[in-house]
Amino acid sequence: MTMVSAQKVRKSFGKNVVLNDISLEVERGEVVCILGPSGSGKSTFLRCINHLERPDGGRIVVDGETIGYRQEGNVLHELPESALTAQRRSIGMVFQRFNLFPHMTALENITCGPLWVQRAKAADVRREAAELLELVGLEEKADAYPGQLSGGQQQRVAIARALALKPKLMLFDEPTSALDPELVGEVLAVMRRLAAEGMTMIVVTHEMGFAREVSNRVIFMDGGEIVEQGPSHEVIDNPSTERARAFFAAVS
Ligand code: ADP
Ligand code: MG
Repeated sequence: MTMVSAQKVRKSFGKNVVLNDISLEVERGEVVCILGPSGSGKSTFLRCINHLERPDGGRIVVDGETIGYRQEGNVLHELPESALTAQRRSIGMVFQRFNLFPHMTALENITCGPLWVQRAKAADVRREAAELLELVGLEEKADAYPGQLSGGQQQRVAIARALALKPKLMLFDEPTSALDPELVGEVLAVMRRLAAEGMTMIVVTHEMGFAREVSNRVIFMDGGEIVEQGPSHEVIDNPSTERARAFFAAVS
């Protein structure tokens, strides 16, 4: 069963063609890593999936719904902001910078979304948030403020916050790139756990170990195109294009 279907997605900024007909299918429960040099369009592609960036062409379907549009017959109508917000809720996103609310505790950062957005019952939301803190290994930090947490801990709270809206799909954009090296492992461990629990994940990362061990498939992007894709060990250890070979030689 397909969770994400990107069909010939195009995006330019002025004359700069950033996504040049990107097509990608991601199955339910699959973990796909996107690798590639800086500026190759990885973030733009992730942002198109949840319509933070509006593609100029092509289409993105998540769990059967065209993102940003409502289909009537063969005609696509752009969705109003409220309907778009509803669609986005089913897609969790974790960025390089954690962007937690600094004046809220870890628990409040996790509960505020469901409380405001889904008007869920406060007691249920708090119980679920406590469970999510446990999932990310921070049950004892419920009352800590972001400023009292390490970068790795903040990123784990950010993951829990995204999960609180019960997404069908999680997008990660270099979630460990801003972390001190000794804090990377704890965040990857949470992502591994999420993958093992069957979450569909698209992960932009430079962590080759993670890509190799956790992902089902690796996509190598360069210059706004998918240059290579396949099982992680094939693409990373034995790339078939010179561009990919040069990139993996430089990062490994
Ligand atoms: P990556 O994540 O692979 O490093 P990005 O998707 O961030 O690549 O960027 C791809 C290209 O698009 C880069 O040339 C970048 O400068 C350009 N770009 C990204 N976002 C914008 C924007 N909002 N306005 C103009 N150019 C942008
Ligand atoms: Mg990027």
